[in-house]
Amino acid sequence: MHEMGIAEQLVKIAMDSIPEDMSDPKVEILNLRIGKLASVVEHSLTFCFEIITKDTPLENVKLMIESVPVKIHCKVCHLEWEVDNPMFKCPDCEEGEVEMISGRQIEIISMELADA
Ligand SMILES: [Zn+2]
Repeated sequence: MHEMGIAEQLVKIAMDSIPEDMSDPKVEILNLRIGKLASVVEHSLTFCFEIITKDTPLENVKLMIESVPVKIHCKVCHLEWEVDNPMFKCPDCEEGEVEMISGRQIEIISMELADA
């Protein structure tokens, strides 16, 4: 289950973002942005979070996940378009010089801390 590794990394980043001078911090909401091609199963990620955040400031954190569409860019005519699956041919100029510009990212956009 690769969600565990992802959850561990996200928890580490979130923990590092908590202001050091805060006493008894508690993170209520974690806003995430996850690409559709990152193959993250939302309920698996939530489950992993529940396990690894026990007795940490992130215990019972609510994950707000924004799904990011897969975006392709054509290096020849600079057309950009969204797809459900990676397509490696530009529908406009039909060249094969395309790159994926979004769809795989896993990032924390922001987090909300409870008032002390
Ligand atoms: Zn093109």
